[in-house]
Amino acid sequence: MENLWNDTEAGKHQGYLAERVYTSRLLGANPDLVLHGGGNTSVKGVWKNIFGEDEETLYVKGSGSDLATIELKDFVPVRLEDMLKLSRLERLPDTEMARELRLATLDPAAPAPSVEAILHALIPHRFVDHTHADAIVTITNTAAGEARIREIYGDEVIVLPYVMPGFDLARLCAEAFPAQATPRTIGMVLMNHGIFSFGDSAKQSYDRMIELVGRAGDYLNRNAQIAPATNIEASADWVALAALRKKVSAAAGFPMLLRTCASGAALAFARHPEAASISQRGPATPDHVIRTKRVPMFGREVDAYARAYVQYFERNSKPARQPLTMLDPAPRVIVDTEFGLVTAGRSARETRIAEDIYSHTMDIILRGEALGGYQALGEADLFNMEYWDLEQAKLKKAGAPKAFAGEVALVTGAASGIGKACVQSFLNRGAAVVAVDISADVESLYGMREDYLGIIADLTSPEAIRGMLEQTLRHFGGLDMLVLNAGVFPGGKKIDALSDEEWHRVMAVNLDSNLTLLRETHPLLKAAPKYGRVVVIGSKNVPAPGPGAAAYSASKAALTQLARVAALEWGADAIRINLVHPNAVFDTGIWTPEVLAQRAAHYGMTVDEYKRNNVLREEVTSKDVAELTAEMCGELFAKITGAQIPIDGGNDRVI
Ligand code: ZN
Repeated sequence: MENLWNDTEAGKHQGYLAERVYTSRLLGANPDLVLHGGGNTSVKGVWKNIFGEDEETLYVKGSGSDLATIELKDFVPVRLEDMLKLSRLERLPDTEMARELRLATLDPAAPAPSVEAILHALIPHRFVDHTHADAIVTITNTAAGEARIREIYGDEVIVLPYVMPGFDLARLCAEAFPAQATPRTIGMVLMNHGIFSFGDSAKQSYDRMIELVGRAGDYLNRNAQIAPATNIEASADWVALAALRKKVSAAAGFPMLLRTCASGAALAFARHPEAASISQRGPATPDHVIRTKRVPMFGREVDAYARAYVQYFERNSKPARQPLTMLDPAPRVIVDTEFGLVTAGRSARETRIAEDIYSHTMDIILRGEALGGYQALGEADLFNMEYWDLEQAKLKKAGAPKAFAGEVALVTGAASGIGKACVQSFLNRGAAVVAVDISADVESLYGMREDYLGIIADLTSPEAIRGMLEQTLRHFGGLDMLVLNAGVFPGGKKIDALSDEEWHRVMAVNLDSNLTLLRETHPLLKAAPKYGRVVVIGSKNVPAPGPGAAAYSASKAALTQLARVAALEWGADAIRINLVHPNAVFDTGIWTPEVLAQRAAHYGMTVDEYKRNNVLREEVTSKDVAELTAEMCGELFAKITGAQIPIDGGNDRVI
């Protein structure tokens, strides 16, 4: 295991708190140690109170932060003495513990301290590091796990059996630490959970973590060789993903995104002769159960999976002290021989986190098998983690999801103008957005946002459309909303000067490509969990054409007619298609300040008068059109199809 300590970098972090931040990030930078908010770290120091007195203080990672990106403000100062006093209580239920941790916090603006705060306080070393390292959870999730850990480390680590994180674990540590610790002890292994290291300096504690986990890794390399992943090519029917997504969403009771990973490793795992059995043995460490559910679904029998989940809930919730609210019974991880690894979530971020976690889990399971048999915690322990009081409290606190959470919108012509504004309006409403444009700008429009996929495509090519839809399916699992916006507006030309080439080019982009798009997306829209919605960006030229725009006006009029027929044909599939007819939207690429000034002068107006040259004297912006477009995909328009809405500030020829 690589030690990432760098003297030059470390030198930039002066003082124990800055050092604490530095090595916490080093841990977070290694996904074999820490994944997505897993693990925690602390340092013991002092806090100067308002009276100028030094208080003995534990600075511990606050909940909700990630070690990879942790900052000073993410460490919560708590009174060390209070932590030690709490550890001497006979019992302390989780919700009361959370309250007491809050009360012991010295800064009211700080986040909630980690539930492992008391445990950190009890360890009699200044720096404490905790990870759920893959190598450790692999070994501790096998039948002879404890014996192997003792064989690897001797008295250099204390070994604790599995106990839920929180007060009971702290109590266990309070007893075990003095009983097992020797002058050689530098760490502590928690069975089926992870590892602690500690030391007098940030470097010592970090070095020990790397050293200890490295030894477990070497042990696995000697005793649990697995074949490297082969280069299996996926040849899946990606359209079938949309049907799977519909079933998963139905089981959940709300729309979910699906993300696929058809890597060689994922496909090899899914096609492993024992995959149906080894995938059902539970997560590697209990904090994964929240993100991946207790076990993945193997294959595509969503109803059977959901039924089994309800039974699991009923079996385990009966002895509970208070009634528990059942989580939705939909799978979060699906192991499929054709798709590879599929993850489900309410947002693109959730699907990616589940994918990262299960990618590590597959490796852990295979190595555990090679080591004599992967054996996760029992059902009851996992259930207690999944239905932990503190997790249920978190769920209650979470607000209502956004209007389009778990849904996918595809916008064409998305790199500029109305299309670009539509992307923003759909992202704001919680949708994952596929933005398509012929311009390369579309790829980087929203940086590395996980809920945004920019695709460069020439929509006059049916192959390009099919390729783009495959990417959409592989990223997000389906398509719910389609905005047909891409179009060209050639310079004004009277019919007597209009060439066949120009006519055909305008028709190819504004009309023909939209027929292909509608035809190819129909099966996806039909499989959308809340049924598909299409919004076509038409033009004022449809009801009120002007001279010099024959090709454009004819193409938009034909597109309007195409959309009206689609509304008739697809009503039975509950797919809604509506149109907007914008006019005089000037905040787009074609309207440079020079062109605007020229046109305004042509009509003898100022630029402002020209922009507001409509019945309401209001300027219409791209954002106005985009917001209307997004709303037309929402609940307000649930019973409307085939409608044409002008958005033009009122036009006397249209009214
Ligand atoms: Zn932990």
